[in-house]
Amino acid sequence: MSGREPKRQAKAAPPVAAEPAPVAPRDDLVAGPVVRTKLAKLGIHSRFDLVLHLPLRYEDETKLTPISEAGTGEPVLVEADVIECEVKYRPRRTLVVKLAEGKDELWVRFLNFYPSQVKQMAPGRRLRLFGEVRPGFFGAEMVHPKVRVVEKDAPLPSSLTPVYPTTAGMSQANLRGFIEHALDTLLLDDTLEPELLERLALGPFRECVLTLHRPPPDVARESLDERTHPAWRRLKFDELLAQQLAMRIAYRERRGKAAARMPDKHTLTNALEKSLPFTLTRAQKKAHATIAHDLGQPHPMRRLLQGDVGSGKTLVAAMAALQAIENGWQVALMAPTEILAEQHYLKLAHWLEPLGVKVSWLAGSLKARAKKAAVEAIARGETQLAVGTHALFQDDVVFERLGLAIVDEQHRFGVVQRLALAAKAGTGLEPHQLMMSATPIPRTLSMSYYADLDVSVIDELPPGRTPVVTKLVEESRRDEVIRRVRESCAEGEQAYWVCPLIEESETLQLKTALETFEAMKATFPDLAVGLVHGRLKPDEKAQVMADFKAKRVQLLVATTVIEVGVDVPNATLMVIEHAERMGLAQLHQLRGRVGRGTARSLAILLYHQPLSETARERLKIIYGNTDGFEIARQDLLLRGPGEYLGSRQSGAPLLRFADLERDVDLIELARELADTMIAERSHAVERHLDRWLGHRQFFLKA
Ligand code: ADP
Ligand code: MG
Repeated sequence: MSGREPKRQAKAAPPVAAEPAPVAPRDDLVAGPVVRTKLAKLGIHSRFDLVLHLPLRYEDETKLTPISEAGTGEPVLVEADVIECEVKYRPRRTLVVKLAEGKDELWVRFLNFYPSQVKQMAPGRRLRLFGEVRPGFFGAEMVHPKVRVVEKDAPLPSSLTPVYPTTAGMSQANLRGFIEHALDTLLLDDTLEPELLERLALGPFRECVLTLHRPPPDVARESLDERTHPAWRRLKFDELLAQQLAMRIAYRERRGKAAARMPDKHTLTNALEKSLPFTLTRAQKKAHATIAHDLGQPHPMRRLLQGDVGSGKTLVAAMAALQAIENGWQVALMAPTEILAEQHYLKLAHWLEPLGVKVSWLAGSLKARAKKAAVEAIARGETQLAVGTHALFQDDVVFERLGLAIVDEQHRFGVVQRLALAAKAGTGLEPHQLMMSATPIPRTLSMSYYADLDVSVIDELPPGRTPVVTKLVEESRRDEVIRRVRESCAEGEQAYWVCPLIEESETLQLKTALETFEAMKATFPDLAVGLVHGRLKPDEKAQVMADFKAKRVQLLVATTVIEVGVDVPNATLMVIEHAERMGLAQLHQLRGRVGRGTARSLAILLYHQPLSETARERLKIIYGNTDGFEIARQDLLLRGPGEYLGSRQSGAPLLRFADLERDVDLIELARELADTMIAERSHAVERHLDRWLGHRQFFLKA
């Protein structure tokens, strides 16, 4: 199976709005229970799954090669008669078979063999052997070839022999048999009209599938291996089309639901714009205008707001919140971590409270009394904007009229959690949803796996930012780094020192943070050093961050909790220890914490040798790129889409054949066609979905 395929996540069913369990796929296999289990291991549950179980590679058994010409280094098919067949001990137990064809002799050796094989290769038998022929001790030799007993002049296969991905206990021959049976018994007719296929320059489905399973000997082998052959393109297209259809249908269904209309009244939104010390960037204005339009519609918005670190998504979210509030609705903004949620809270309160908007804070760590008060204010409708963490969708939180839910870092929340929040509307109407992604998502990915959402991109940073300079420094040159920190702080600037990530153990991570903190205090006795990590109590955390903001702390030792949302423009230097352990998105996010003001900023990535191949690749990418979208694109190439999808993968039909990077043109075609097909209510929609997704359902409600 494709190694890129992300694992499906199993999720516990929560009390609210449970994700429906996928219905078992249609089961029309003709096989007993043992075989079924084996096939299931290969992801095969139906005859159509067999059809889609495509070969890894092919062997050419369509022509015979004379033994004397066989030593080319390539596997070939030869035919000869058995002269001798003997088990020898030299020193290991070996089955040695001597064959002859005319004047040519061939020796074949097996180190592992069954008694049945000894019988099979009895003298006088004629054998076809597939494998590599090499010069051996006695002459031409094959080791462990594939063997078949044949009659003289038996016909050769007319197509290449497929080699399938398989599992223990399921031989190639058996698997091939099942697949052949499926190919012969299923109709494999086309779900798409011939005229359409012609326009798209795609071949008929049946023909393409048969080409992939039984390629003719003269097929362009390279294009099969590289999956660029027209037959491959047809399969990829069909797969992408199924994905697009499923997601676009989900998209349309949502548009059929009712939501509160909240047109832009320009009262609060204009007031906010006027109060800012800067103007919105062109990209922010554009995103805002689109969202403002969406919110005025009578159906729920589901928009993903993408923008690189520091592009100013929070402000766009604030404008959306104000538009809802102007119309008398409540807004919830949730973020995945307390530190991030709190940063949002502080920023939004700072912007909105002067306009008379009631902003409240809700997090798990609030004392019972404060929490009760916050929950009550939300329920009474007094709170206009509630900012918080997961605490916002706990059972006791009920909104009077929730009109808009804003979710930062949407991929860190599950579908279920977003559904739960939507269920809190308190009005029978669906709340609008604005999702923000701090990690840019490559375009191909948002076009495919996110096709059920509308996407806005802020593709511009506010003016006056100086790009962060990145340096890769080997651990042995730590002294220079320390000197650099001292210099920066001496000039009145501030620095972050990011502790190494220790994924295996939170305890160890904490220990390292504490040790680093002590070490930094000793190294910089003249500096005010602070420490922030995930285990601090929220008020302690808030205190440290406030001290850093107010320049009472010059050097802030931090774990990756500062990855998101922290916004201190005077911090111009960031040192990241063991940068080789971190992922690209994480490094990019961390680096985005500096370069927020107009001063020149520097990110120093300390790394330890030896570097793994991927670590080296990652560091090269982060060093050479500042654009988050480009980094994300390269990350996608490096790792595949799994990591980006987060909770999405539980619902979205996955791609096995199409490659997001290489098949952009097909994604575009599929997207266009899917929309047309749905608009025209084409019968092909259902047939195509039924074929590709069968009874496997997909749920993209949130
Ligand atoms: P992100 O997109 O990473 O969430 P933020 O919303 O945190 O970015 O914005 C980063 C910083 O830029 C904040 O300090 C914010 O106040 C500031 N900012 C936002 N928009 C503008 C603008 N148009 N001009 C100048 N600064 C801006
Ligand atoms: Mg942000």
